[in-house]
Amino acid sequence: ESRNQGEPEFLQAVREVLDTLAPVLEEHPEYIETGILERLVEPERQILFRVSWVDDNGKVQVNRGYRVQFNAALGPYKGGLRFHPSVNLSVVKFLGFEQVFKNALTSQRIGGGKGGSDFDPAGKSDAEVMRFCQAYMTELVHHIGEHTDVPAGDIGVGAREIGYLFGQYRRLTHRYESGVLTGKGKGWGGAEVRTEATGYGAVFFAEEMLARAGEGVAGRRAVVSGSGNVATYVIEKVQQLGGRAITASDSSGYIVDEAGIDLELLKQVKETERARISEYAERRPGAHYVAGGNVWDVRGELAFPCATQNELDEASARELIKNGVRAVAEGANMPATPEAIELLQEAGVLFAPGKAANAGGVATSALEMSQNAARSRWDFDKSENRLHEIMRDVHELCYSASERYGKPGDYVLGANSAGFVTVAQAMLEQGVI
Ligand code: NDP
Repeated sequence: ESRNQGEPEFLQAVREVLDTLAPVLEEHPEYIETGILERLVEPERQILFRVSWVDDNGKVQVNRGYRVQFNAALGPYKGGLRFHPSVNLSVVKFLGFEQVFKNALTSQRIGGGKGGSDFDPAGKSDAEVMRFCQAYMTELVHHIGEHTDVPAGDIGVGAREIGYLFGQYRRLTHRYESGVLTGKGKGWGGAEVRTEATGYGAVFFAEEMLARAGEGVAGRRAVVSGSGNVATYVIEKVQQLGGRAITASDSSGYIVDEAGIDLELLKQVKETERARISEYAERRPGAHYVAGGNVWDVRGELAFPCATQNELDEASARELIKNGVRAVAEGANMPATPEAIELLQEAGVLFAPGKAANAGGVATSALEMSQNAARSRWDFDKSENRLHEIMRDVHELCYSASERYGKPGDYVLGANSAGFVTVAQAMLEQGVI
């Protein structure tokens, strides 16, 4: 802890994993003897850099850029870039650490990393976003490549930003290296279903958990937070499976639409116009907007936190339980606090941690990498079926690990132990490096 002072998110993520590993380490004392734990919590490499760019008024702006290459025992570093004013080293390290285990669970042979910047895309013009992305890539170019490190999107980084980043990479290297970034436009190397994958995958995982308990998504109310990439496609898949997603939110407030969210309108407001979620309620009869407030006060049998870390605390968990929630699946990374998770699990609520539930995004990114390498292109159905299969496998892996280590149905234990063993074994076999 003394080595990572001032990094509360990172310490929280590490603690959450270490707290569950006792039964694994009992079975594998060799992981302790070879210092796997000490090595695993230390990123292999951290890159911090200045990003200077010129805004529309001709003024020079300075941001900080990050790329943390956490662990490459299983394959090239892989993980998204986050552009949000709250980004700091602690946030990037927590995301990178989680990514290592998540990527292991996908069985796609990818290591873990994460990056980003404290740049705030909100309110910036397209030209400003482009100049920022070009400046950011001007440093990042030295650290990435299809065999070394392959970034993708996250909060504040979507198709537009990936496009600008790729353009600058191409300009700087004089190479068309498709596999250096994922989440690309479909016309130039992007994979079908990558946009939908994280959200769809989280619902597939929830469906698997519920099916084990003899239940399903159909006919149930789903409370969803966020209104970005992950939230949008959680809502779409819930509705395709016959459930009713009734909420969405942003950092200003949330909307409730008892008739079920109108996806076309949601995409128009958020993806096309980049407007606030309150705009949705203004245009949709029957829907209402709650400024501020807590989306977890809304009653639903399913809950999908899809905004950001620590957005679902103990009080929110209590409210969800009181309102009869059956399953919570984390679309975001670490959205539920440790206290909230404990309460939910004690109350018998099925709980899917982000490492497992939101792994569909990075898994589909790995499919994008293999399509790029093979110069091939899969259609939508094939890609979605493959994603569905992968999420079933991730669920199975987590469930059987939870059984093996003595708590069947504890998906936190299952995801942490299954992910850990895969990475630890690879590190052990590769020697002390
Ligand atoms: P987007 O930028 O598309 O959307 C983020 C959403 O979360 C917005 O509605 C945003 O509202 C809200 N939000 C962000 N920060 C905060 C905050 N501090 N407080 C309240 N609300 C906030 O991001 P994604 O949908 O891609 O990512 C959402 C989550 O899912 C993140 O935790 C990310 O790490 C995780 N994730 C994403 C993957 C992907 O493939 N995109 C893969 C795996 C995990 P506002 O506009 O007001 O900021």
